[in-house]
Amino acid sequence: MQSSFTVRIGELWYNFLAMNVKKFVKPNIYSLKAYQAKEIPCRVKLDANESPYGFADGYRVLKSVETNRYPDPEAKTLKRLLAKELGIRPVNILQGNGSDELIYCLITAFGGPVLYPVPTFSMYGIIAQALGEKGIGISLEADFDLDGNSMAVAIRREKPKIIFLSSPNNPTGNCFSSEKMLQIIASTSSKSLVIVDEAYQPFASEKGFLPLLGDYGNLVIMRTLSKIGLAGLRVGFLIASEEIIEQVNKVRLPFNLNALSQAVAAEVMTHKAQLRQHIRAIVREREKLFAALSNIEGVDPYPSEANFILFRVEDAERIYEGLLGEGVLVRHMKGVVEGCLRVTIGTPEENRIFLKALKVVVRNDRKRVK
Ligand code: PMP
Repeated sequence: MQSSFTVRIGELWYNFLAMNVKKFVKPNIYSLKAYQAKEIPCRVKLDANESPYGFADGYRVLKSVETNRYPDPEAKTLKRLLAKELGIRPVNILQGNGSDELIYCLITAFGGPVLYPVPTFSMYGIIAQALGEKGIGISLEADFDLDGNSMAVAIRREKPKIIFLSSPNNPTGNCFSSEKMLQIIASTSSKSLVIVDEAYQPFASEKGFLPLLGDYGNLVIMRTLSKIGLAGLRVGFLIASEEIIEQVNKVRLPFNLNALSQAVAAEVMTHKAQLRQHIRAIVREREKLFAALSNIEGVDPYPSEANFILFRVEDAERIYEGLLGEGVLVRHMKGVVEGCLRVTIGTPEENRIFLKALKVVVRNDRKRVK
């Protein structure tokens, strides 16, 4: 039976028959599961890998933004500042409304198949499916490093146009071995683009792949300002050869990065000392939190080079709910890494509240089981 719904327009009520959407929507969209970004009320929010430190000062520049005008379609000022910071040229940068949008643009421009190790950032697979392209997930090894052999076999068999390597990887937190990454980049040089997603690079002890850009024509680096205090602005960027940037730029919507975000991000880029200080504080807290988690019986953390820690517990469902009951929101990794939770590094105070709550919840859970 067809369902109906009623809408009031002015003084009158109209009755509409609902459309049978399933018949109209593309099958790949109907079967797609939307990215879960639910807002769950909590006291301490440690679920989304955001920075606990914002940039209140950055917003002073908003007064100078002419909101009646379209933003700079090329984000020239911001790109100039980013280029200077990274020691590259602005023509090698493409701005995105978050790196999520750039994943969309890359797959739109180059197509699939799209290959990535799993578990990894879910948007590679979601966007591939949304665009009707084949997504191929290749399991990581037990220590969460790349499985070089399986990747090589899959690359030969599937001939992917794009390979995503998130390093440090979300949600596992480790950097992949650079030898294995280089092997993949070198062996696919004329066949696949390799996107090294360095969303969490600022927190890593290793340098990242930027210095290798000149050596490999198929290498693309993806970065974001989301993890270093600007998630609300939605600013991500690609770094690649001019030829690659030129092609991806064709599918970017003209004014994708709004004027407010451009202005604040550019302002924040001139406060580099503060940015670095925040990053150092997060790394210090990560090491402290890792040590503290290792000391809790029934909790097994994985080493991390990012701004979060993945940890194994005896009953992830109960510990997740227990933490939420204490007002602490972490990410439940059900269906991604079974038996694990992921906690974002917060301020020292937030981490203290999290640890205290975790100890209580784990202790109660262990008593219950005995
Ligand atoms: N890449 C990875 C590995 C991520 O974890 C995320 C955010 N969760 C993104 C990209 C997307 O970041 P942005 O906010 O720039 O869209």
